[in-house]
Amino acid sequence: MTSTDARTDPDCLFCRIVAGELPADVVATSERSVAFRDIDPQAPVHVLVVPRDHHGDIAQLAAADPELLSDVVALADEVAGDLADGQFRLIFNSGPRAGQSVFHVHGHVIAGAELGWSPA
Ligand code: 5GP
Repeated sequence: MTSTDARTDPDCLFCRIVAGELPADVVATSERSVAFRDIDPQAPVHVLVVPRDHHGDIAQLAAADPELLSDVVALADEVAGDLADGQFRLIFNSGPRAGQSVFHVHGHVIAGAELGWSPA
């Protein structure tokens, strides 16, 4: 296994989107992250921002590579500025009980509307 292999998981949905093996509506990229529209949008703007490297959740990413987490947040901010008015909610579900269903860390950029507050 090469070092590149260690940063991707061939069975991971979002690794496959990042690799271009599966289609996605990509709206922005950086050298280390990719932003694409959620397939089941919950707001006028609902974009997922993922690091190109595979990390399971936000805590794992923060511990392993804080600069990459910063890159994800910067790309989320760019997307909200490009597709909405620059104001956004950034949600990282962490664990199944919190609603995480894809175990490649991703930030949900929610924007483009007046947002309520009732996550539970
Ligand atoms: P989670 O539930 O893990 O926080 O978020 C996973 C998100 O991925 C969900 O909002 C879901 O709609 C989205 N999703 C699942 N499969 C696909 C897919 O194949 N393409 C895209 N663009 N989004 C997906």
